[in-house]
Amino acid sequence: MIERRLLLATTNPGKVRELRKLLRGLPLRIESLERYPEFGKYRETGKTFEENSRGKCLFYSRQYPGLVLAEDSGLEVKALGGQPGVYSARFSGPGANDQKNIQKLLKLLAAVPENQRQASFVCVASLGHQGRIMKIFRGRVRGLILFEPDGKNGFGYDPVFYYSPLRKTFARLRPEEKNRVSHRGRALAKVRRFLESYWQE
Ligand code: IMP
Repeated sequence: MIERRLLLATTNPGKVRELRKLLRGLPLRIESLERYPEFGKYRETGKTFEENSRGKCLFYSRQYPGLVLAEDSGLEVKALGGQPGVYSARFSGPGANDQKNIQKLLKLLAAVPENQRQASFVCVASLGHQGRIMKIFRGRVRGLILFEPDGKNGFGYDPVFYYSPLRKTFARLRPEEKNRVSHRGRALAKVRRFLESYWQE
């Protein structure tokens, strides 16, 4: 029998906020890595979201008695051949932060016209238990990169990611609106269904 607690294997406060909301109501105690500094930090060295997501999940699930959910996510920009991809968080180099990453992205895309600014956010989430991967879940959302930031909500590249169906950037959406359509929201809806049926059996 699996203990009914789940560790979110991330220290990114933006992600923790969204993930907690997305898992709300499940019969599980949700914990975050902040409580377990003794577990150490996993170094993401993978070349794909899946590699990083799996690696992170295994690393923490060998140390934690309950379930572990590790997600790797990022932005893929078509005109940049899929960059920044797994390097999204570190795109602007040492000392990277959301603002610097956005600046670098806008600079690289300065000469790219509106009809060639397609991008996707991608999320690969791994659910694990005691050193074993139970299942991998994926989510993707398509949008366009604007020429300048717009909006203050969310985190990361949200201010420049324009979501056409709602005619707003992700940084202009309320958290519930973003979770309904985002890469993370889509992947986590699958995690939810999996966990619900897991405990029904
Ligand atoms: P990770 O911790 O290596 O998965 O970093 C993911 C990075 O991708 C974040 O630091 C952001 O820069 C970007 N990213 C992932 N998800 C989102 C999102 O929902 N909105 C904006 N940026 C995101």
